[in-house]
Amino acid sequence: MNHSLQGRIALVTGAGSGIGRADALVLAARGATVIVNDFDADAAAATVQQIVDTGGRALPCVADVSQRATICAAIAEAAAQVGEVDILVNNAGIASRQEAFLDVDEARLDRMFGVHVKGSWFCTQAVLPGMQRRRRGKVINTSSILGLSGRRRSSHYAAAKAALIGMTKAWAKEFAEWNVQVNAVAPGRVRTPILGDVADSEAYRKDLLAQVPAGRRAEPEEIAYLVAFLASDESDFITGQIISPNGGEVI
Ligand code: NAP
Repeated sequence: MNHSLQGRIALVTGAGSGIGRADALVLAARGATVIVNDFDADAAAATVQQIVDTGGRALPCVADVSQRATICAAIAEAAAQVGEVDILVNNAGIASRQEAFLDVDEARLDRMFGVHVKGSWFCTQAVLPGMQRRRRGKVINTSSILGLSGRRRSSHYAAAKAALIGMTKAWAKEFAEWNVQVNAVAPGRVRTPILGDVADSEAYRKDLLAQVPAGRRAEPEEIAYLVAFLASDESDFITGQIISPNGGEVI
């Protein structure tokens, strides 16, 4: 058993499913107490239960990350119970439903930026003062290969994920004086529910085999192991980096 995060408090957003759930489970397995955020209460409770069942410590934190007052209050309430957050994983996200540029209306653009950009911003603002006081912290943002390389019919998602790359680099420079490291993971294709039925189609399978040298999608745990490393003391000299586990799709 790896106990590298013993005594640390981690907050993972969107941890009721997919990569976020895997992040929460791996961080807990390494000793962190995990605050499990999701806006779906049942999903958050299920992740908490999985952690507790395997001997870990976790509590739910149900809130929409894009609603500043709500998410800040929920984080403060959780921190009052278990302690201030040492590790923040900004993971909550919504799918990149493929839409032509001219079809993306203002509401869809606002939601894409609200969840990914503003949500990560609000959560980071909520936990940074405590990290500054303790002169220690890790912020891990979840970008995407689409933020690195773009993709047709996904410009709203690519723009939000590229914004996270800029935020990661700027925050890394700004927060370094408090010994807070900020990095981003930019996953390629990961086997989670986010794509719905699309991932089962023959067209998706053909595209996957053509585009991904590894010839498969990642399992969520393969992203979570990287997140756990970036959350640990072993990565203290790594900051402002965008690391892309993608099976060779974007190099
Ligand atoms: P997922 O299985 O759909 O999990 C995302 C979770 O975030 C869901 O539980 C979702 O709830 C929750 N969520 C969405 N909006 C939220 C909000 N405003 N506040 C709180 N929770 C919210 O997706 P995933 O594939 O694990 O994706 C996790 C992150 O990785 C996302 O940022 C995504 O963009 C990124 N990513 C994924 C892939 C991939 O191939 N899977 C690749 C690159 C990057 P609901 O289910 O109720 O919406």
